[in-house]
Amino acid sequence: MDIVYSNRYQVDIGAHVFHMGKYAKVRDGLVAQGLVDAAALVEPAPAGWDELALVHTPEYLEKTRSGGFRASELALLELPWSPSVTDGFRLMAGGTIAAARLAVGAGGGPGRATGGRVGTSRNLAAAANLGGGFHHAFPSHGEGFCLYNDVAVAIRVLQRDGLITRAAVVDVDVHQGNGTAFIFDGDPAVFTFSIHQEHNYPHVKPRGSLDVGLPDGTGDHDYLHALERALPAVMAGRPDLIVYVAGADPFLEDQLGGLCLTYEGLRGRDALVLSSAREAGIPVAIVFAGGYARRVEDTAAIHIATIEEAVRLGA
Ligand SMILES: [Zn+2]
Repeated sequence: MDIVYSNRYQVDIGAHVFHMGKYAKVRDGLVAQGLVDAAALVEPAPAGWDELALVHTPEYLEKTRSGGFRASELALLELPWSPSVTDGFRLMAGGTIAAARLAVGAGGGPGRATGGRVGTSRNLAAAANLGGGFHHAFPSHGEGFCLYNDVAVAIRVLQRDGLITRAAVVDVDVHQGNGTAFIFDGDPAVFTFSIHQEHNYPHVKPRGSLDVGLPDGTGDHDYLHALERALPAVMAGRPDLIVYVAGADPFLEDQLGGLCLTYEGLRGRDALVLSSAREAGIPVAIVFAGGYARRVEDTAAIHIATIEEAVRLGA
């Protein structure tokens, strides 16, 4: 399985509930478990400004480049701005583009599609970016720790390059994927599915193609039942790619989440999504999104389990 990662994902944003050290912990854990060969990790290139512009407005991109944010905009973003923050988020967006290309069998960049990878019922076609998933970013503003919507950017880049026509987003982060839903609103080529805690950020939830808002405290059984009922609608659109936004924050000890999934429930969630994609023969690009457990080791373990499930299914 192709894994995209850079040590430069870990941006210095000061003391923050968003523990960016999780990325290196996941990488180290995957290598220690022998799931990933450190030498085979794919180092991404930063998303190009032209690629980011497929989703974001020129005015917003200029602000992210030069730091011309007002205090109120930074408060909404909930991140400090520095050139290194922009560099780190551009790099992670590049990582999501790379993972999406690898998932569909086009690892060499635009125009160099190898085309050989088609999912079968036996093997899952998947690649992962050990970062990304910034689903709260809108075309003209960032919010909720999300500077660029790498999920939308990757889909638009692969469409531009003729690698995919249709795509689906399966967003299981505890927070609704508001930016992604807004960006693809009215676009029949992209199906956006979000399963999340209803009474949580974002308080205004633009409607995606399918939103499942769960009550506070929902546990493994009810969560998995709701997810299982929703997935056939995602697969029915026959997308050429699924971007799996595999947030670790539905975990019962998450500081920003109010769902109550256990380790086992989260692993069951990953297995449901990934096995559905495998059965439908649809490639998957996995990105990480949120995860704010009191112990960063818990967040890392949940992300590692997502990769384990993909490998177990043949990726
Ligand atoms: Zn989240």
